[in-house]
Amino acid sequence: MNNPNLKQQVDSRRTFAIISHPDAGKTTITEQLLLFGGAIRQAGTVKGKKTGNFAKSDWMDIEKQRGISVTSSVMQFDFAGKRVNILDTPGHEDFSEDTYRTLMAVDSAVMVIDSAKGIEAQTKKLFQVVKRRGIPIFTFINKLDRDGREPLELLEELEELLDIESYPMNWPIGMGKGLEGLYDIHNERIEFYRPERYEGERFIKLTDGEIAEDHPLKEKSIYEDVLGEVELVREAGDQFDLEKIERGDQTPVFFGSALTNFGVETFLETFVQLAPKPHAHKTDADEPISPYEEEFSGFVFKIQANMNPNHRDRIAFVRVCSGTFERGMDVTLGRTGKKMKLSNVTQFMADTRENVEEAVAGDIIGVYDTGNYQIGDTLYEGKLNVAYEELPSFTPELFMKVTAKNVMKQKSFHKGIYQLVQEGAIQLYKTYLTDEYIIGAVGQLQFEVFQHRMLNEYNAEVVMTPMGHKIARWIDPEQLDERMSSSRNILAKDRFDQPLFLFENQFAMRWFADKYPEVELKSLM
Ligand code: GDP
Repeated sequence: MNNPNLKQQVDSRRTFAIISHPDAGKTTITEQLLLFGGAIRQAGTVKGKKTGNFAKSDWMDIEKQRGISVTSSVMQFDFAGKRVNILDTPGHEDFSEDTYRTLMAVDSAVMVIDSAKGIEAQTKKLFQVVKRRGIPIFTFINKLDRDGREPLELLEELEELLDIESYPMNWPIGMGKGLEGLYDIHNERIEFYRPERYEGERFIKLTDGEIAEDHPLKEKSIYEDVLGEVELVREAGDQFDLEKIERGDQTPVFFGSALTNFGVETFLETFVQLAPKPHAHKTDADEPISPYEEEFSGFVFKIQANMNPNHRDRIAFVRVCSGTFERGMDVTLGRTGKKMKLSNVTQFMADTRENVEEAVAGDIIGVYDTGNYQIGDTLYEGKLNVAYEELPSFTPELFMKVTAKNVMKQKSFHKGIYQLVQEGAIQLYKTYLTDEYIIGAVGQLQFEVFQHRMLNEYNAEVVMTPMGHKIARWIDPEQLDERMSSSRNILAKDRFDQPLFLFENQFAMRWFADKYPEVELKSLM
């Protein structure tokens, strides 16, 4: 489609994922961002555990019971002339594959850290997933209104544990009850926490890094301390380096308190300036597709079934990579060559789902799906004929044999399994000769979600038998000899009929490798 404003629209997009260890404040900060964008009118709309208003990210019962976000949700708002798309990610590491696929659909990531806790287990794991993706990472250190750890110590820990350079964009002046404000290094100003205690202004500009001589803050010893610390990080710390930020080798660090809405707007203002606009995406062709390419294209990075139990719908989340999406347009589904009409498409606002009329690169649209789409599918307009890069799968490390409890319910059992596999909720294998079902997961919770959803959505009670096997390795089908299967391994095939072996441990795998040195054992990601 010819859209004269395409470039301008694309350049205004900022699409990012938000990650954190549970309870660091991801939901609270998301809510504040949505408030600034006018997408919601009151706090408590995104996750109202107490009021019973569950947000989009808590679609499933299991999430409500556990209070964790199993799936990712998408929210959009406008701020300072930019259109911002936030993709929420599941905090739990068991769903890191889902997180990774979400990261494939964004151009940057924001990591939220609790200032009292520093880098927590999940932060570290999720960070590693982001790092693999090589996109810019912004850090927000939260809960300054409480007593937390010293900023220098937090930055040191961040650099050491995550192996990334950090650059403080601002510096807390006090914390907890003694929180006075932020020394904003980037904007050369001070932002007061309680402006009414001083001269009433929230922001005061600095001259040569200093506040006016007669300002009451000057008398506080904390102010001198902060000047000293800022000087120290200026001299001994890393220099601000946009190229490093773009490569994900340096993270700009912001401090604040999401709950008291302090420092969040400053973060957002700077974020929309520094965060990258939509990038070109790699395809099977030599050249990546430019986001300014006129013909529409995008890929499915997530499929979510039964978001609304009343409607039993299924939605394919599509990251738009080029062109302009228009409601009712015809596209080709690359994998099958089938023509699809995109008439029933939603966009994700915080408290409503609205019909989307137009979207460009960077935007996420939700296409109603009756079972046509799979994760990784490319959609394109006209003759574009591209296939976006395959979305990587993680090598599962947990396996279960699975059967239907009630043999009369085979049909719903099969339907459920295939749909959940298409969604990427679980991986499916069959024993090579006997076709018994084996499901594979990266984390134990995936099995629980699987079992729960099979029962609730497909009315199929499943029996799962844990297997001791932890290692899956694929082999070239041409090298396969069925005699390689022994009591020390299980020969299976994946859903594309590719052969693989499951081993109980490293010894069993090494024994195999020694016996068949010519056979290459391959893992996924
Ligand atoms: P999530 O699990 O990362 O989404 O975390 P939530 O946003 O649900 O926050 C977890 C808890 O921390 C909630 O009780 C919040 O009210 C609280 N919280 C979030 N941000 C702050 C903050 O800046 N200061 C304080 N004191 N509490 C906060």
